[in-house]
Amino acid sequence: MGKKHSQETIDKIRRTKIGKSPWNADKNHPKYKEYINKVKLSSSMRKGKTYEQIYGIRANKLKEDKRKQLALINSHKGESHPNWKGGISSIRDRLEASIPYRNWKKTILNRDKYLCKMCGEIEYLEVHHKIPFSKILKDNNIKTVERALNCQELWNLDNGITLCKRCHCIIDFHRAKRGV
Ligand SMILES: [Zn+2]
Ligand SMILES: [Zn+2]
Repeated sequence: MGKKHSQETIDKIRRTKIGKSPWNADKNHPKYKEYINKVKLSSSMRKGKTYEQIYGIRANKLKEDKRKQLALINSHKGESHPNWKGGISSIRDRLEASIPYRNWKKTILNRDKYLCKMCGEIEYLEVHHKIPFSKILKDNNIKTVERALNCQELWNLDNGITLCKRCHCIIDFHRAKRGV
């Protein structure tokens, strides 16, 4: 078991970064300028710039850090995923390919300005379900894609949040560990 991020650390990150008063809403916050720059960068990013062009000499170090963290996280993957195989994951796979799902995801990415809400990352973005996807399916006794498409709770925009792959893995890993 890697002990890199304790539950306390995660809770602390969560409180400070996605808590009730986000720092990026406060113009006097010391990180505000950095945030605005990242927003600007993220739009130039989407115009086809490379990581190196954006981060310059910091690019290699950033990439290496990210690679190490991902390797650490991936080494834990699959340990505690009871729903990894079977009905729910096949419904999920099919839903993820559907147009409503892609629209839901896109709306959330747009709302969050294509920034990870935990660390401000602009690459490898994913949308995390605050109430787990599998829990919604279970609570609503959904066993078919058709039922899922008609389930309001599943399409609630408030249930989605933009995270980069790295932060997403950390959050989901700790959630799986708690058995939620
Ligand atoms: Zn997630
Ligand atoms: Zn992140």
